[in-house]
Amino acid sequence: MLTFALAGNPNTGKTTLFNALTGSTARVGNWPGVTVDKREGEYNAPNLPTISIVDLPGIYSLSPYTPEERIARSFLLETPIDCIVNVVDATSLERNLYLTTQLLELGLPMVLALNMMDGVREKGDSINAERLQENLQIPVVEISALKAENLPDLMDEAVKASAKKRQSHSALESTPLRDFVAYAKEQLTKKGARFALFEGIKLIEEDKITLESYPQEGLQLADFIRENPAYKGADMPCQIASYRYA
Ligand code: GDP
Ligand code: MG
Repeated sequence: MLTFALAGNPNTGKTTLFNALTGSTARVGNWPGVTVDKREGEYNAPNLPTISIVDLPGIYSLSPYTPEERIARSFLLETPIDCIVNVVDATSLERNLYLTTQLLELGLPMVLALNMMDGVREKGDSINAERLQENLQIPVVEISALKAENLPDLMDEAVKASAKKRQSHSALESTPLRDFVAYAKEQLTKKGARFALFEGIKLIEEDKITLESYPQEGLQLADFIRENPAYKGADMPCQIASYRYA
């Protein structure tokens, strides 16, 4: 059995997709300790292994500030997942890809579900999915969860992706922050961190959860950044956010 996690911003159609994929197998419960819905179910197709689907809470970021963010983040980092299905609202791609840039840093198998393509077409727009796929280096599948369009394609791509290793990469590696990213990643790799790139970038962002796990590395990184004259006084979390959008 494979496990796929549906991750994305609120209102991108995750639950609609979840319901279309899992039908009568869907179960609703709560995430431990909080009153946030947890939906799990199975996707069955004749040519595929059974796939357990988990509908993660809607989030804008993998930061530690809201219960939804903490639930989604700990699920992605602590549960064996075969593929992340990143559900985005294709009518508002720019905003949605902010989270995508963070998910890509985990290095887990991942596909991008361009949802609400019916809405895109209705506006007379189109999306260059091939170009997006080249840039993100993950499969991109155009779907409509509402109209149940292309869902078997999405699952086929996700199953294929789950069978391959994926290297983590980050948009920040091609920005002036690249030296910090490389340094942080190297430090955490030495510590045996499973998500060294993701956690390394979280350290640069001064992320509370990662700082608690790696206090020593956090201090060393802060020194490394301070000693670099080009970045004196720069607000790192803010810079990172603007590079992600860029
Ligand atoms: P979630 O917050 O990500 O779980 O999003 P929901 O599944 O609750 O969907 C949010 C809204 O988007 C609902 O009104 C859905 O009917 C609508 N929606 C979901 N998928 C599609 C789609 O493919 N096309 C269109 N036009 N609307 C959709
Ligand atoms: Mg939902």
